[in-house]
Amino acid sequence: MSTPAAAPQPRAVERQPHRVVVIGSGFGGLFATQALKRADCEVTMISRTTMHLFQPLLYQVATGILSSGEIAPATREILRRQRNAHVLLGEVTDIDLEARTVTSMAAPGPLVTPYDSLIVAAGAGQSYFGNDHFAEFAPGMKTIDDALELRGRIFGAFELAERATDPAERQRFLTFVVIGAGPTGVEMAGQIVELCQRALRKDFRSIDTTQARVVLLDAAPAVLGAFGPKLSEGAREILTGIGVEVLLDAKVVGLDADGVTYQSPDGARHVIPAACKIWAAGVSASPLAAMLAEKSGAGVDRVGRIQVQPDLTLPGHPEVFVVGDMIALDDLPGVAQVAIQGGRHAAATIKARLAGRPQPGRFHYKDKGSMATITRFSAVANVGRVQTAGFIAWMLWLAVHLVYIVGFKKRLTTLLHWAVSFVGRTRSERTTTPQQVVARNRLRADPDAPPVWPGAVGERPDVRVEDGGIERPTSTAA
Ligand SMILES: Cc1cc2nc3c(=O)[nH]c(=O)nc-3n(C[C@H](O)[C@H](O)[C@H](O)COP(=O)(O)OP(=O)(O)OC[C@H]3O[C@@H](n4cnc5c(N)ncnc54)[C@H](O)[C@@H]3O)c2cc1C
Repeated sequence: MSTPAAAPQPRAVERQPHRVVVIGSGFGGLFATQALKRADCEVTMISRTTMHLFQPLLYQVATGILSSGEIAPATREILRRQRNAHVLLGEVTDIDLEARTVTSMAAPGPLVTPYDSLIVAAGAGQSYFGNDHFAEFAPGMKTIDDALELRGRIFGAFELAERATDPAERQRFLTFVVIGAGPTGVEMAGQIVELCQRALRKDFRSIDTTQARVVLLDAAPAVLGAFGPKLSEGAREILTGIGVEVLLDAKVVGLDADGVTYQSPDGARHVIPAACKIWAAGVSASPLAAMLAEKSGAGVDRVGRIQVQPDLTLPGHPEVFVVGDMIALDDLPGVAQVAIQGGRHAAATIKARLAGRPQPGRFHYKDKGSMATITRFSAVANVGRVQTAGFIAWMLWLAVHLVYIVGFKKRLTTLLHWAVSFVGRTRSERTTTPQQVVARNRLRADPDAPPVWPGAVGERPDVRVEDGGIERPTSTAA
């Protein structure tokens, strides 16, 4: 008796999970990824850094209060328990809206990642308003590298002043010019004064750090203009009270190793000899905004931000969301809450689509207020109808920033370091190295420098295609 051949069994059809790609591990990218935790999808976050950077506290790394680890925890660690989240290092260089793929670069070569939904949160960089050569002498404040370079330059200036024998040269080393009187500039200027007046006061033998000059300079007529006239004036008074020279209506027209030249409204030019210059003025959106605008027909504003649809999607591409500092929508400011809420909104829309529920539609930003510290125990805060300057504002600032620092351990060490700096008279993070100070300019000067994460770039140039978070090599070019 022959046994009938077994009837062919229907093959189980593997359902491909919905693939969400998130570009950027900043506020927009991280909060979007976390909001997708329980969604029926696989999330791949691609970022050119391995960390989630808390930019508002960069100035504290630059002035030796906090360590870089306290404000920049590893993204991989934050997302460790989120099983549907994959983290990939890479600089995104192309987004193909038709093929629905993202190309990113890092050693050993380009990688193409397909998506069903895309959230772009690549943030913004520093703008020198067409004077990019200023960057050589005046670092901006956007990355951990910037903050560590500035730390080296600030603490290094005191060291060089200690060695200087010529009084004019010594004063040049003891003059710090901060360009840009927005929150970053105000916070930097305030902290440099604290260094001069308190933290470093007893550390040197030949110089008197209290004689240092800290200049805060802006082309605009007000300090912290976005905070309104009352807080702006309050901040200016506090700054001048602690010894910051505030120069308003002062447009920087020259900047080199020796100092800064600015023009006053009467057209006169003034030179400030200064070794240490800090650029805290102007932002320009990630170049990915202009790329997406060109490919989708969306407009860009004067700082390169893309004009998205009211629901944060690209025109003609409801599957692509752009959030945070990259977008121009309803005059929203470039602040963390816009990115956080935007990221969550994009995630909520994707989740609603996957579940077949009504989508949230238009993005509504909830303004939770703004604040900036000036010096220890002194800040300005604009929360709802409350506008306050001084100690209460500083306590509010302290509480809010502690809440948003990711991770319990980091909160604890941050609190400890704040106590050391604000109650005590010292700084726990004063380590500086020559490499911190020179590396950026050396890389800028080297046309062959790899764009990100040096290694075997060029050794395996094949484009690889990633599938559902798992990469597989291929020899086909994109
Ligand atoms: C010094 C400073 C102080 C600030 N202070 C405050 C404050 O007190 N309060 C406040 O609300 N806001 C503040 N902000 C603004 C706030 O930090 C930003 O609005 C917020 O970070 C924007 O979030 P985002 O996700 O859009 O961009 P970001 O947080 O900048 O994140 C962008 C991410 O994209 C990645 N990325 C960029 N390009 C690429 C690419 N091509 N490929 C892959 N990855 C890429 C970056 O590595 C980064 O992970 C401050 C900003 C700075 C610089």
